[in-house]
Amino acid sequence: MVRGKKNMNDNDILRIIESQDKDEIEDLFSQVQKVREEHYGKNVYLRALIEFTNCCKNDCYYCGIRCSNLKLERYRLSLDEIINCCITADKLGLKTFVLQGGEDPYFTKERVKEIILAIRGEFPNHAITLSIGERPYSDYELFFHAGANRYLLRHETACAVHYSKLHPKGMILASRKEALQTLKKIGYQTGAGFMIGSPFQTPQTLLKDIRFLEELQPQMAGIGPFIPQKDTPFSAYPCGSIDLCLKMLALTRLLLPKALIPATTAMETIDKNGRELALKAGANVIMPNLSPVSAKKLYTIYDNKAAGKEEAAENLLYLKEKIISSGYLPDLSRGDAK
Ligand code: SAH
Repeated sequence: MVRGKKNMNDNDILRIIESQDKDEIEDLFSQVQKVREEHYGKNVYLRALIEFTNCCKNDCYYCGIRCSNLKLERYRLSLDEIINCCITADKLGLKTFVLQGGEDPYFTKERVKEIILAIRGEFPNHAITLSIGERPYSDYELFFHAGANRYLLRHETACAVHYSKLHPKGMILASRKEALQTLKKIGYQTGAGFMIGSPFQTPQTLLKDIRFLEELQPQMAGIGPFIPQKDTPFSAYPCGSIDLCLKMLALTRLLLPKALIPATTAMETIDKNGRELALKAGANVIMPNLSPVSAKKLYTIYDNKAAGKEEAAENLLYLKEKIISSGYLPDLSRGDAK
């Protein structure tokens, strides 16, 4: 029997992380459904993901777009191309644009501001989400005042020692945590999150992830399996397990009942029903990829990334049908955090 969400102690959480007991896990998922329905019903919010650059100055050991990967052909979308992605997304009814990219020095604060202002000019009521890594705090403020509403910055792992095994010297967990606090303080709807099954992860580090989310109280939480990319130092490590992903999603939903939690592309990549399973474990967001096809092929943070249907309209239709056949309701509203 899974204890109620309020009184889950460390042992309860660790037991679930390590549990292989089907009944206990089913019990967890049914609790999760209740919690999720209390706040968001059966709704699944759709967001347009636009991967606008695969250039990155960072060198995270797990990530295929790290700067040391010399095999990767790099690209940047122009302002016009980005706006065109937004226009396509808007025509399909999507009301959130998620701009994700590597930490690309070409996109100076002035350039990012210009992009935000241009999107805001065309779409005064849409939500603009940024996912462009760690920047000076003054940049975060500038972007917020230019019209960005949300920011995704996964903490990746809440254990400092583990963090140092996933990232090169110079990247430290304390800075990442501080960035997340700053984003929240500025007023962004803020998303943290972590990979499941990254090398050197343990039940103890996962417990820290859960406790960190509880402490930060982010409005969004991105959780997905680690998947190796062949041109990275972690190429030989195995994928994270779908079962563990689902349990961590469920725990996150119980502890953050109002969070917006995506059923990630990475989940779909490791299991052909990954998205549907994620919805059952508490996810309530899906982010169809609206990047141009050429960009999609080069935004290879991991191998064999589930690409979806090439054509945006067809892909969205497919996702909506998937959501409905899984027993949920596609929701095209902005879907701000409650
Ligand atoms: N530069 C941005 C966006 C990074 S890509 C940033 O730093 O926030 C978005 C997320 O993809 C990362 O936060 C990471 O959790 C995930 N990711 C990167 N490489 C991965 C891999 N090999 N397997 C699974 N997820 C990965």
